[in-house]
Amino acid sequence: MSYQALARQFRPQNFTELVGQEHVSQALMNGLEQGRVHHAFLFTGTRGVGKTTVARILAKAFNCEKGVTGDPCGQCKACTEISEGRFVDLVEVDAASRTGVDDTRELLENVQYAPTSGRYKIYLIDEVHMFSNSSFNALLKTLEEPPPHVKFLLATTEPKKLPVTVLSRCLQFNLKRLSLPQIKGHLQKLLKIQSVEFEDSALELIARAADGSMRDGLSLLDQSLAFGAGSVKENDVKIMLGTMDQNSVVNLLNSIISKDSESLSAHLKQIFEMAPDYARFLSDMALLLHEVSLLQILNSYVDSSQFDRATINTIVKSTSAEQIQLYYQIVIKGQEEINLAPDSKIGFEMTIIRMFAFKIGQPGDLNRNNSQTISQSNTTTSINSVRQNSSPAAMSTTHNINTLKPPQSPVPEAMVQSEPVAVKKYHLKDITEQNWGNIFTQLQLKGTARELARNAHIISNNNGVLVLAIDKQAHAFMTDNAQQKLKVAIENVVTEQISIKLEQDVQVEKTIARTEQIQRDTKVRETKDKVQQNPFVHHMQNNFDAEVIQIKQGQNFLEV
Ligand SMILES: [Zn+2]
Repeated sequence: MSYQALARQFRPQNFTELVGQEHVSQALMNGLEQGRVHHAFLFTGTRGVGKTTVARILAKAFNCEKGVTGDPCGQCKACTEISEGRFVDLVEVDAASRTGVDDTRELLENVQYAPTSGRYKIYLIDEVHMFSNSSFNALLKTLEEPPPHVKFLLATTEPKKLPVTVLSRCLQFNLKRLSLPQIKGHLQKLLKIQSVEFEDSALELIARAADGSMRDGLSLLDQSLAFGAGSVKENDVKIMLGTMDQNSVVNLLNSIISKDSESLSAHLKQIFEMAPDYARFLSDMALLLHEVSLLQILNSYVDSSQFDRATINTIVKSTSAEQIQLYYQIVIKGQEEINLAPDSKIGFEMTIIRMFAFKIGQPGDLNRNNSQTISQSNTTTSINSVRQNSSPAAMSTTHNINTLKPPQSPVPEAMVQSEPVAVKKYHLKDITEQNWGNIFTQLQLKGTARELARNAHIISNNNGVLVLAIDKQAHAFMTDNAQQKLKVAIENVVTEQISIKLEQDVQVEKTIARTEQIQRDTKVRETKDKVQQNPFVHHMQNNFDAEVIQIKQGQNFLEV
């Protein structure tokens, strides 16, 4: 016996066997049972969702020897002949190959003649949007005055390309894309009927790759049966689909999060050796980020995940919700652009490098304005409380107190630090003590030079000579290198020639560092007061003799 593809072998024979299109089958069955039978039907929907399958079942329903029925018998001559594709009164046309008006005319010439053996003569026109204008006109004439023995079943993936005149004469049914569980469940059922050995995870991969199309799902299943010599195994399917082991995706993300460039290039090398489907790899990365995000923000897991929960948990703890959002955006953009890259490997590599290079500011930086910290902090704090502690009870405990945030740096950092910011230039006369905070942000310093600037105070600015005093508490930052960098940075933001002197070991009160310290101390005092006044703390003290022993400043919130 010759091998028959699964999609053909298990084509649904009646409306009840049809998977996932209940809204269509129900409407058709009801119409047929009540004798309300239209003469032209249009089935729309993306590829492989069952448009022609529905049309063929409908053809049986019209021609079953037991009468026009919502439940064709599948046994009679008409039913079996339609199933086997040799029913004389079912004319199947692929419009893509029959676009000329002559073809259509020839096709429709026989419309007037009564059916040879069936009750109705059925024209099933697939991809009908491919018809030319003149073909549509020819079809329209017949649709306007159809002989009573003729039914038109049209199918298309692009109903918008049909003339309104044709659309308005058809009863339209939109078939939905199938969900992953629908496809997976159907494949499972078929394999069980055939007693084929399979791994559940393999079907999951196939169903995901099918992307809403049952036909694609069945073809992939066929392929993997051939590939796996009669069984369906996860590893075989992965190789067949070019999907990487989920560990590769996880490892790559971990080295990005930990900013470990050595491990990143090692993992990339491994991946390149496998030469996977790079677009699919990015799609897997997006899936992983989605799951991490769900847990971070909504504290929920994806039901049928290909990643294990411990892995997701670990990632959740290792980075912020905002950073994951940024990664997701980069990956989605990367998928979009992969076809524009010189080749898909380069497109993939650039996307991963972009994930590595871009870093969002600390979670709290979302609220950059210091004075609005408390009122605006709800989103970030709830994100953080979910991330830090997933038990609901503990969450509510920390939440009330979470709204008291440690003070923000008065020097806001750019959200995405790697994005260059236009530097503002100052006239020499504007280099003043009052302006120092603003000038400092324009210096865009890092490391010790930044600390030096934070601990600096302008003593004088006369005749092109700027004298800065460096607080003695910043003594350790007075390296030659840092001094040099600070000077160059200041020269760069001043429009005129300037010479800079740094004075050491002075007690300076008004530096950025000291101002921040004072703000922090004030905040901590206020926080302590607020904790004492917090209703939950009150409740615990009154009812359970609780004592506040320690108020700890967490990464972005305070916990008791
Ligand atoms: Zn029948």
